[in-house]
Amino acid sequence: MMADPEVSTQSGGYDVDLFVDTPDYDLICTICQGVLRCPVRAACHHIFCKKCILQWLKRQETCPCCRKPVNPSLIFVMHKLRKSIGCMKIKCKNEIRGCRETFALSEQYYHSVSCLYELISCPYQGCRAQLLRRALDTHVRYCEHWCQPCHMGCGTILSHRTQAQHNCYKKLRQEYETRQRNHRAIATALQRKMRRMQSTMAHMKRQIELICESLEVMDDLCEVEEEDHRESSGSSGAPCSNNSNC
Ligand SMILES: [Zn+2]
Ligand SMILES: [Zn+2]
Ligand SMILES: [Zn+2]
Ligand SMILES: [Zn+2]
Ligand SMILES: [Zn+2]
Repeated sequence: MMADPEVSTQSGGYDVDLFVDTPDYDLICTICQGVLRCPVRAACHHIFCKKCILQWLKRQETCPCCRKPVNPSLIFVMHKLRKSIGCMKIKCKNEIRGCRETFALSEQYYHSVSCLYELISCPYQGCRAQLLRRALDTHVRYCEHWCQPCHMGCGTILSHRTQAQHNCYKKLRQEYETRQRNHRAIATALQRKMRRMQSTMAHMKRQIELICESLEVMDDLCEVEEEDHRESSGSSGAPCSNNSNC
């Protein structure tokens, strides 16, 4: 099995080359040759990285420096030393990629999560691109796997390809305007129909009035005729045959 370089440096001390100033000899762990990570002191006063000595003691319970017996339960973390090592200035592990920053060892993690020269994976699902953090913005602008819900809140998941054509607001507005146009057309048609009906009704009313008028005229005529008839039959008791004009 191949050793993972990241894991092996994690378990041992810090890489000496990482430090801006060459670390003192007494800060070096004799087991891993790195700068002490979580330093512990054995009863014999020799100091090692905690992990290094615990691993060593699994094989033999003697000090790797002086061969004196070491009791694994009698090793103590040196908090002050740990703290002062944490204050030592280191270079960024991404120096080789161009990062020029230096910072306290204890700030290594905080720097790495923001280091512009850190190699990261594109965060979009399905994209296998590995790139420097500083190139992410540019990559994301062209990444085929980029996707985001529409910021207007319509729920559509957009890609670079669909984003250009997507305009749900415009579409909604168009739909609204079309609907308004349709409603206006219906209202105009109804108004026209109503006016037509009103004029038909007026026409019918006029017709009814005319019929009524003519009926009244006819009634009047009948009355006049009846009166004439009664008058003529009342003045001469003789039958009509006497009148030659009849
Ligand atoms: Zn060590
Ligand atoms: Zn010793
Ligand atoms: Zn950096
Ligand atoms: Zn990508
Ligand atoms: Zn939308």
